Amino acid sequence: MTANIIDGKAIALQLRNEVAADVARRLAEGKPRPGLATVIVGDNPASVSYVKSKHKACGEVGMESYGHHLAEDASQADLEALLRELGADRRVHGILVQLPLPPGFNEEAALSLVPLEKDVDGFHPVNVGRLAQKGRDPLFIPCTPAGIMWMLRTTGVRLEGAQAVVLGRSNIVGMPTALLLVRENSTVTICHSKTADLPVVIRSADILVAAIGRANFVRGEWIKPGAVVIDVGINRVDDAAAKNGYRLVGDVAFAEAVGVAGAITPVPGGVGPMTIAMLLKSTLKAAQQQDG
Ligand code: NDP
Repeated sequence: MTANIIDGKAIALQLRNEVAADVARRLAEGKPRPGLATVIVGDNPASVSYVKSKHKACGEVGMESYGHHLAEDASQADLEALLRELGADRRVHGILVQLPLPPGFNEEAALSLVPLEKDVDGFHPVNVGRLAQKGRDPLFIPCTPAGIMWMLRTTGVRLEGAQAVVLGRSNIVGMPTALLLVRENSTVTICHSKTADLPVVIRSADILVAAIGRANFVRGEWIKPGAVVIDVGINRVDDAAAKNGYRLVGDVAFAEAVGVAGAITPVPGGVGPMTIAMLLKSTLKAAQQQDG
């Protein structure tokens, strides 16, 4: 068996085109241009590069973006003052605090200062709480999990009644993805670094979401034949033949898994592009809610 490759780039592009068309329509109607503010603290190279891509993507769909970069030695008070200012700025419909913050910052306190209606990343404790509660709906959900769900739905994967295994329990990816799958009536097992007999648990999965940040960790023989595999991991491995001396691989040993799974996302070109597309969609939604 050779798995279908789920083309995250193509799915994301379609979504971005839809967002761009909606933005153009809003502008033609004389409504304000949707605006996203990003806040980054320190110079973590991965964070700087992610934020750069987010600004570029905003420009490509006709949105405004406002970048705020605080130095590594900025204080919690500096960060909170900036978030209050952005919260009151009517040009800013969405606020994204790039995580992780450097050590010493109180992430929860900072995220609590993002007004709920501007919380396009879905990390405000109230939005997270609503995601976890039956009968409640968060205003926004975290972008990577939202992108995973969008891909699953677009490719027609049956979620109701499916056995899903989520590998990783982070606030950003693993836990919200598990909560979203439960909301879609999948039966979900969450695995982490203390899980015993990981291969056995993984082999029970009709849907596997791998988000641990360990290169090629999940082996092909752990995967149930025909399973849908969503590989969130982004890991650098040395590659002397590559221009930068490295290449990106996922958490799943792709070459092995592709012969067993029914469908699989590649790295790069799978979940990554979806994350940014969902951020754009959320920023548009924020603008629609605030300015009609
Ligand atoms: P975190 O480091 O916050 O969380 C990692 C999780 O994996 C933890 O729950 C940890 O368990 C678990 N874990 C680590 N090692 C093992 C192991 N050997 N066996 C089982 N579980 C393990 O990572 P993130 O969730 O932020 O990111 C995960 C990956 O996804 C990274 O590669 C990251 O770059 C990528 N990513 C990709 C995005 C995209 O847009 N494509 C967006 C965000 C992240 P424990 O809780 O016990 O420590």
